[in-house]
Amino acid sequence: MFYYYFDPTYILVVIGVLICLAASARVRSVFGRYSQVRSYSGLTGREAAEQILRRNGIYDVRVVHIPGNLTDHYDPRNRTLGLSDTVYGSSSVAAIGVAAHECGHAVQHAEGYTPLAIRGALVPVANFGSSLAWPLILIGLLINSQVSVLLIDLGIILFSAAVLFQLVTLPVEFNASGRAVKVLESSGMLRGDEVGEVKKVLGAAALTYVAGAASAILQLLRLLIITGGRRRNDE
Ligand SMILES: [Zn+2]
Repeated sequence: MFYYYFDPTYILVVIGVLICLAASARVRSVFGRYSQVRSYSGLTGREAAEQILRRNGIYDVRVVHIPGNLTDHYDPRNRTLGLSDTVYGSSSVAAIGVAAHECGHAVQHAEGYTPLAIRGALVPVANFGSSLAWPLILIGLLINSQVSVLLIDLGIILFSAAVLFQLVTLPVEFNASGRAVKVLESSGMLRGDEVGEVKKVLGAAALTYVAGAASAILQLLRLLIITGGRRRNDE
């Protein structure tokens, strides 16, 4: 296993990590800035979420307060919209934007939006795949037997499923933000200039998903380079 420390393809992993760190620093900074800007409506994240859900005819989704910062999410399993410390009770432009984005996911779920359904189906495969792929590939690389190519292939397939999950996440996230901007604009919950600020916050958040997908693709590329090299040695 030690030769991985000298593996030049490791640079791909480092690039991926740097991209993710940069995206996460950016969303923290943009979110932080607009968390300080109070909205004219004075609505809290929770109130905005409840209004948006009702406007969409959704009455079976609970809006709850969850701990943390930027931990906001919609959980389709129990139809719960979790809003974090800086969103739930805050009347900032950023809070309303994030709340509206999470409502976008609840609406996607209610409408049976296809990419969300595909993403949901991929969750177990992606979790299982990303944790099992590397052990399989390492065993495949270390042992010298008939099954080693099979193990490597299986590892690559599992890792690809995890990459696919990241890619399917992109339309789901962009669509939720699109819905958020539309409803905030059309309902008059935010003024025009505030909608522009929400676009900046949600745009920065979307970049973290793009970074995650790019990083996953770089890792897959590295995997293909490493295992491809091994295969040529075998032949
Ligand atoms: Zn989202």
